[in-house]
Amino acid sequence: MSRRFYVIGNPIEHSLSPVIHAAFARETGIPIVYEKRLFAIEDFDGQLQQLLKTEKVSGANVTVPFKTKAYEASRTLSGRARRAGAVNTLSFRKDGQIVGDNTDGIGFVRDVKRLYGENLDKAHVLLLGAGGAARGLLAVLPEFVESVTVANRTEAKAVSLAREFGVFSCPLEGAYGSSWDIVVNATSASLNGAVPAVDKRVLSSASLCYDLMYSRVATPFMQQAQCAGCPNVHDGLGMLVEQAAESFRIWNGIRPTVEPVLFWLRATP
Ligand code: NDP
Repeated sequence: MSRRFYVIGNPIEHSLSPVIHAAFARETGIPIVYEKRLFAIEDFDGQLQQLLKTEKVSGANVTVPFKTKAYEASRTLSGRARRAGAVNTLSFRKDGQIVGDNTDGIGFVRDVKRLYGENLDKAHVLLLGAGGAARGLLAVLPEFVESVTVANRTEAKAVSLAREFGVFSCPLEGAYGSSWDIVVNATSASLNGAVPAVDKRVLSSASLCYDLMYSRVATPFMQQAQCAGCPNVHDGLGMLVEQAAESFRIWNGIRPTVEPVLFWLRATP
């Protein structure tokens, strides 16, 4: 019998996770049912308990705005979920235990390895933003690269995050002066058609500029980096598929191949 999974969020209609997991299921031959589930903003815990009482569910992905609530609902946490303070992958054990993990950071690292190359361990990374997505990256990224520096519009948040994760921080407008191999936009600026106020020389001298946001057309940050002359500019679709692949592995014990799904998603209008 197929095991059942959900992606829980609010809003959730836009989520690509069901089509990604359906493709993984076809590729691996593991039959699963994976659907979207809208939770009301209030009382995540109550709705989760109700879901587990009425249906036999094996796991769930959790997206905006419930990742912190999913963290609090987890009885057991992976190290990376604990460090991130957020959970995007829940496993519901037969004994009733809820296990929380966070696959965002490793999803990002795997996509960047594909785009930047295997010498990622020599890279100096400038991370723009100090919200939930930045935390997910900081839980994993520092062990894969030479250095990480956080810069944020509200500088105090970057300073505090850098202290917590043992990385560097610098003012957003003052990032020019050092040389960054990879610049990551983990702000939500692109969602509002805006760009972070970073010097264009920071972008032009980087080998890779990466926007966590994904879109059918170039995001505002991607356009900003392309105009500045960065030769290698990408959105976060690869991270989305990679984090899904890691969730699939946690639940089903097999890591699916990401490239065909990514290729197919990019080609689908
Ligand atoms: P949060 O709301 O937690 O954080 C928002 C961050 O963006 C803050 O640091 C905020 O700065 C900054 N910011 C917002 N507007 C601007 C602006 N105009 N200029 C400069 N900085 C700005 O959001 P998340 O961290 O949850 O999400 C960030 C992005 O990551 C979103 O676009 C989201 O879609 C994407 N994402 C992609 C994933 C993927 O799989 N590809 C996974 C997770 C997230 P301040 O502190 O000053 O307010």
